[in-house]
Amino acid sequence: MRMKEERLLIADYGRKMSAMGLSQGTAGNISVYDAAAGLMAITPSGVNYFDIQPEDIVIQDLDGNVVEGARKPSSEAGLHAGFYKAYSGIGCGAVVHTHSNYATTLACMGEPIRAVHYSISGAGTCEVPLCGYETFGTPELAEKAVAACKGSRAVLLANHGLVAFGVNLEKAFSLAVSLENIARIQWQCLCTGRMNVLTKEQMDKVLLRLQTYGQKPAADGSQNAY
Ligand SMILES: [Zn+2]
Repeated sequence: MRMKEERLLIADYGRKMSAMGLSQGTAGNISVYDAAAGLMAITPSGVNYFDIQPEDIVIQDLDGNVVEGARKPSSEAGLHAGFYKAYSGIGCGAVVHTHSNYATTLACMGEPIRAVHYSISGAGTCEVPLCGYETFGTPELAEKAVAACKGSRAVLLANHGLVAFGVNLEKAFSLAVSLENIARIQWQCLCTGRMNVLTKEQMDKVLLRLQTYGQKPAADGSQNAY
């Protein structure tokens, strides 16, 4: 069985994603990329996350050719592949796509995730951009999402959800959780009509501080636990 460890990890994080309410039912999808082999392991289409077994995970190349797995891959496999094609050179080793409530609320409002809290720096940016609407599972959506993401390790998909990536699945998942929390804070601020967004200068200081924060620097410069 190819990518056995990655399959186990994806099944485990899929259950976490559902249990934490980051996605409902069969929505959302997770993948891990093996750059040396040029293969990604991705969740199957339309299977409940609590039922997914390691053998249900699909292994395919970045052109959509399935090399192992009896299941149909996620309908967003092309979106995941697009991120690896564009960003594996800068630390994209895993992708998490969710329809989490607050991030999706902002995406439906046409709002990016702003620096209402300094921990947005986990995305390596001061603002998580929003890409224009396209139908789910289409090459057009993949193209727009990848293009909008430049400089950020996450992007909001208009009227759809969130995509986050990281050097590994732990980082990508942690970023998706953190951004959902920041999106909730932003939404709560918007409800009160009062919102102070950190300035670029303030965020530059945070991003600089992050380079020396923690036990040891991450390969992609990201930090999620601060
Ligand atoms: Zn989706």
